[in-house]
Amino acid sequence: MHIETSCVQGGYTPKNGEPRQIPIVQSTTFKYDTSAAMGALFDLEASGYFYTRLQNPTNDHVAAKIAALEGGTAAMLTSSGQAATFYSVFNIASCGDHVVSSAAIYGGSYNLFAVTMKRMGIDFTFVSPDCTEDELNAAFRPNTKAVFGETIANPALTVLDIEKFAKAAHAHGVPLIIDNTFATPVNCRPFEWGADIVTHSTTKYMDGHGACVGGAIVDSGKFDWNAHAEKFPGLTTPDESYHGVTYTERFGLEGAFITKATAQLMRDFGSIPSPNSAFILNLGLESLHVRMKRHCENALAVAEALSKNEKVAWVSYPSLPGDRQYELAQKYMPNGTCGVVSFGLRDGRAAAEKFMENLKIAAIETHVADARTCCLHPASTTHRQMNDEELAACGISPELVRFSCGLENAGDLIEDIEQALR
Ligand SMILES: *Cc1c(COP(=O)(O)O)cnc(C)c1O
Repeated sequence: MHIETSCVQGGYTPKNGEPRQIPIVQSTTFKYDTSAAMGALFDLEASGYFYTRLQNPTNDHVAAKIAALEGGTAAMLTSSGQAATFYSVFNIASCGDHVVSSAAIYGGSYNLFAVTMKRMGIDFTFVSPDCTEDELNAAFRPNTKAVFGETIANPALTVLDIEKFAKAAHAHGVPLIIDNTFATPVNCRPFEWGADIVTHSTTKYMDGHGACVGGAIVDSGKFDWNAHAEKFPGLTTPDESYHGVTYTERFGLEGAFITKATAQLMRDFGSIPSPNSAFILNLGLESLHVRMKRHCENALAVAEALSKNEKVAWVSYPSLPGDRQYELAQKYMPNGTCGVVSFGLRDGRAAAEKFMENLKIAAIETHVADARTCCLHPASTTHRQMNDEELAACGISPELVRFSCGLENAGDLIEDIEQALR
């Protein structure tokens, strides 16, 4: 199926007389006739549902749709993008291990890695996405378990050279994990470029209506855990908490990673979305392909208008011809990147704040990728504890405005920007 068809129909095929729309199974638990039947589920010998913290049919249909969109073999939903990022790494790295990450990643991911997971004994080395292959290879250690990057980094809008990062990861026998939130599978399918695991904050374009916080992890099923068995004992040796199940043996390369993440991490950490939230996410997914096209058209029109305005010092949008990222973006995302544009005003930080207050359609929000246009001034909000030097180090100038183009009329958005600039 083409991606448009998967957006609409993937993950759920009703049988004769069943509901056309995915049913919301709003139940914490499931009934069994015998304890033995339920026991088989606890041993992972049979598949089925017994408690919604581990699995729920509504969530599973929506996860299956996201797996189809990415071209993966298995997927799971999480209650937030942060949980998806954490599980994707913690599923294969534990205390004493090391991970290589692109430095151009979402601020929340950076904090999770550099502060919280470091406290759990996992070390991260951050490399510039523009690094040479030699510099990238030099970041690996014998205990490196994964490489992490983001297709289009939020908010820096840096495009990742996925092939370069995949090549280095595979040369060192570890998988490449890609946060594909901003591009979505409509614009980029990282598995086709060598990535092994994909994560999402479904809060953004997948939901698309600012309704539900959520996340997802998808496995390509292609990484050969057995070929590097000594690095990944959690997948290739028996799990005593399930009577000695070995995930790669029982579930194959196509199912091992997600089954382990569900059976161990979701069991123990419990960040599962409610079935009702999964249902709302699915409504967003049904129109993802239509909306992404419009978000990108609006963003390109806005970026072009901004770049012609004398009050604007610079514009960053990877699909704008002449942009520093343009060629890389054309390689990985020829049909469009995302709806987020960042730019700076000639008159600096104070002008940026005043400009945003003058906007009538675009609202000031800590959010992106919504049907409604919104904007944020990182220097005075999300990054306000940093001084100008610290801001520069993470690629955010004091005058930067992050502008997330919604689905409104592009002419109206441009007029709103121009009156606010005036
Ligand atoms: C928002 C975001 C996250 C975190 O997701 P939440 O759903 O807010 O927990 C992770 N990665 C990227 C790229 C994001 O934009």
